[in-house]
Amino acid sequence: MTAKVNRQWRLAARPVGLIKESDFKLTEQPVPEPGEGEVLVRNLYLSLDPTNRGWCERDTYMPAVKIGDVMRGGTIGVVEQSRNPRFQEGAVVQGLLGWQDYAISDGTGLTALPHNESIPLTAYLGLFGHIGLSAYFGLLDIGKPKAGETLVVSAAAGAVGSLVGQIGKIKGCRVVGIAGGEEKGRWITGELGFDAAIDYKAEPVLDGLKKHCPDGVDVYFENVGGKILDAVLSVINIKARVVLCGLISQYNATEPQPGPYNFGNILIRRARVEGFIVTDYMNRAQEAIADLAKWLAEGKIKYRIDVVEGIEQAPLALNKLFDGSNKGKLIVKF
Ligand code: NDP
Repeated sequence: MTAKVNRQWRLAARPVGLIKESDFKLTEQPVPEPGEGEVLVRNLYLSLDPTNRGWCERDTYMPAVKIGDVMRGGTIGVVEQSRNPRFQEGAVVQGLLGWQDYAISDGTGLTALPHNESIPLTAYLGLFGHIGLSAYFGLLDIGKPKAGETLVVSAAAGAVGSLVGQIGKIKGCRVVGIAGGEEKGRWITGELGFDAAIDYKAEPVLDGLKKHCPDGVDVYFENVGGKILDAVLSVINIKARVVLCGLISQYNATEPQPGPYNFGNILIRRARVEGFIVTDYMNRAQEAIADLAKWLAEGKIKYRIDVVEGIEQAPLALNKLFDGSNKGKLIVKF
């Protein structure tokens, strides 16, 4: 019998611009044995997230991954061997177990997932994971939308953005999504019930905002930054709330990026800009999950996932988030 091999993507260089395959190195190691108090997990799914790009390059809300280390990543896996009484063999678990087939964990940050046949495991990396929580708490806790207000969301057909818009509709807002390409616009207006879509690749965003937000913008859920943020700032209402969730247009920048030119409108319109990191809300996760599960069951929330087959695809697949070719939550299946 041949020994089982653990394929691991290790960070080989700090990326400059878009990720290149040479920024990572695929290595093979024997599968490790768990020590006392540890478990061996075989990964099944890996979440690819825009924030992975930052982790490769610099300290953010987490330290940068060290050169030579296994790339950090959120995964779902199955416990193959357990020497930790909290986790039984065969349990399905979630944690930051990295871009590798197998991982050893002492249980820190590891969560056993409930057994529920009606929920696909991938949902725990999306709707019922950090994606759903970002949309839910970012919009409701920070954006505080009221019925009748206008909500604009960027990267609107993406994992977070598509949920934000649908929650906004549930709360009675007029919802306008900014997304790249006709297909994404059709999906958010046709399938998800957004009131309008602005294709930032086909028309000036400001023209679209003037057309689709005749009463200005009360809540802006920001995933992109740069020129899109500037356009929205020029049409915000008095007491607008700008939820700063992400700035994906800047994650591959090779030079410092200027702040928004329309920054002054935050003063003139007495607006509030507030950033958040989803980990701030982990202790309130059940609040969000209960509502999201209810809305899903009622057919008020839909989501899509984009599954890439094979861990060997991970480095280049990450770029799908930056060229917009992902259609929904981007996940790698081992
Ligand atoms: P998405 O599924 O939304 O994928 C990213 C999308 O961003 C792409 O599909 C693309 O859509 C759009 N995009 C990429 N580059 C640009 C650009 N230069 N200009 C305009 N649009 C661009 O990813 P997520 O839902 O995982 O993440 C969305 C945002 O939320 C990111 O900014 C991410 O960092 C942030 N985030 C923040 C969290 C927090 O705790 N604060 C937690 C999770 C996510 P298109 O085709 O429309 O261009």
